[in-house]
Amino acid sequence: MSSALSVTAGTRRAVDTARLGRLLRDICGPSHVKTDADALAPYGHDETHGLTPIPPDAVVLPGNTREVAEVMRACASLELPVVPRGAGTGRSGGCVPAHGGVVVALTRMAAVNEIDPSDGVAVVEPGVILGAFQQRVEAEGWFYPPDPASLADCTLGGNVAENAGGPRAVKYGVTRDYLLGLEAVLPTGETVRMGRRSQKGVAGYDLAGLMCGSEGTLAILTSLTLRIIPRPPVVQTGVMAFASAQDAARTVTAVLARGIRPRTLEYLDALTLDAVRPLGGYAFPADARAALIIEADGVSEDAVWEELRRAAEVATAHGAQEVVLAQDEAQRRRIWDTRHKLSAATRQLTGHKVSEDVVVPRGRVPEMVARLAATGERHGLRVGAFGHAGDGNLHVQVIFNDPVAQKAQVEACLREVTVEALQLGGSVSGEHGVGLAKRALLELEQGPEVIALQKRIKAAFDPRGILNPGKVFP
Ligand SMILES: Cc1cc2nc3c(=O)[nH]c(=O)nc-3n(C[C@H](O)[C@H](O)[C@H](O)COP(=O)(O)OP(=O)(O)OC[C@H]3O[C@@H](n4cnc5c(N)ncnc54)[C@H](O)[C@@H]3O)c2cc1C
Repeated sequence: MSSALSVTAGTRRAVDTARLGRLLRDICGPSHVKTDADALAPYGHDETHGLTPIPPDAVVLPGNTREVAEVMRACASLELPVVPRGAGTGRSGGCVPAHGGVVVALTRMAAVNEIDPSDGVAVVEPGVILGAFQQRVEAEGWFYPPDPASLADCTLGGNVAENAGGPRAVKYGVTRDYLLGLEAVLPTGETVRMGRRSQKGVAGYDLAGLMCGSEGTLAILTSLTLRIIPRPPVVQTGVMAFASAQDAARTVTAVLARGIRPRTLEYLDALTLDAVRPLGGYAFPADARAALIIEADGVSEDAVWEELRRAAEVATAHGAQEVVLAQDEAQRRRIWDTRHKLSAATRQLTGHKVSEDVVVPRGRVPEMVARLAATGERHGLRVGAFGHAGDGNLHVQVIFNDPVAQKAQVEACLREVTVEALQLGGSVSGEHGVGLAKRALLELEQGPEVIALQKRIKAAFDPRGILNPGKVFP
C-alpha cells in the first residue's frame, strides 16, 4: 500500500447497531445519533483524493465534554473504535473510520467562549469554524493567523489535530504556534487539561504541543485556548507572473534569502494556471507559465509598500513578466478566491488526481520544482504543483484518466515524488498529516526506533488501541 488509491477497510468488529444506537441516544439525545446507512455515508470519507469511503457503524454528535467522556467510556467498554471528526476537510483520511466503530463529530460544540485581549487569548470549543472565528477575532481588532485554504469549512479542533498551516505560515507559523492549552477526553474516558493560559510556561512535558498534529489518535479535544495577536492594520496583495516555473521558484528562494518577510508567497505552476483560467476569477496573463501570490502586512503603508517594492525588484531580476498589486479589496478578494479554487480546478482537468503534500527546505524549492517535471516525464503523467512555496510546502498534483488501469503508474510516481522531497531534506507531509493515506510513506522518513517510540506514546494514552485505530503508523 503506498497511496490513498490503495487504502482498504481494516477489520471490523460485528456490532449490534440497534443496541449501540440506544446506548448513544441515552447519552446525547435521540436527535444527535445516526445509524441509518444514508446518514452514515457522508462520515465515511474526507477530502482525500482517491480514497474509497469506509462508513462507520454509528455517528454521534455530543453537545458538551461530559457527553464526549460518556461516549468514550461506553465505546471503551464495548471495545469499539472511536474516531473524532471535525468538518471532514482532511486530506489524508484522518477522520475516516478505517475499522468502523463510532464517529464522534464535534460540530455541535461550536461556542467561542472568550476573546480576551488582556491575556491575548481566545477560548473555543473544537467545532468552531476557522473562518467564522477569524472574522470574530478581527472584528475586535485581533488576529488569528493560521489559514488553511479550507477555512470556510474546517474546524479549530481539526486544525489542532492536524497542526494545520496555510499561506500565512511563511510569516506567522502554524497552528502549534497559537495553541496554549486545551481540555481533552482521553481514550480511557478521563477528562484532562493540558498546557496553560499564560503566554509562557514550561512546567512538565509539552503535552498540549503533543496533541497538536496527533491526528485524533491520542485524545478527543473538547476545548482550546488559543493565542491571538494584534491585527496588522495594513495588508497589500500582489501577483507576480513568470514565463517559467524555475523563474518563479528562484524568486521564492531569493526573496526570503534577502530577509524580506511577506506574509504569503504562494506558488502556481503552468498546470495550475491552465486549470484555473477557465473558471474566470483573477486573470493571470495568458502567456504566464507560473505565478506567485505575494502579500505583505504591517503597521504602516510605507513599510508594507517598501517590502513589496523590494520583493518586486527581486522578481524582476529573476525574469518576472509583470508584478501587479491589487487595486482594491475586491481585487484582493478575487485573487484569494481564485487561490482557494486551485485544488478543485486541477481535479476537473480529467476528473482524477492524487495529490502529495510534500515539503522541502525553502532553499531547495527550485530543485524540487525541476525534479517534479522530470518525475512526471519519466512516468508519463501530468504532474504539477501549487502551494505554500515560501515554506517549501508544495501540493503536488498527479493527474490521470483511469484510476484502475493507471494505479501502479500513479503510485510509482507519487512514491518517487516523496523520495525526491526526502532526498532534498524534506518531509512526506508539510501540513496534511499522515492519516490513512500516507502510512506506508512514514517509514521512508523515520527510522524504526522513532516509529516504535511514537507507538509507545500512543499505547500510554490509548492502551486498548480504540481511538482512531489504523492511522499514522504503517
Ligand atoms: C480545499 C482544501 C484546502 C486545504 N488547505 C489546507 C491548507 O492550506 N493547509 C492545511 O494545513 N490544510 C489544508 N487542508 C486540509 C484540512 O482542511 C485541514 O487538515 C483541517 O485542519 C482539517 O480540519 P477538519 O475540521 O475538516 O478536520 P477533519 O478532516 O474532520 O479531521 C482531521 C483530523 O483531525 C481529527 N480531529 C478532528 N477534530 C478533532 C477533535 N476535536 N479532537 C481530536 N481529533 C480531532 C480527526 O480524527 C482527523 O484525524 C485543506 C483541505 C481542503 C479540502
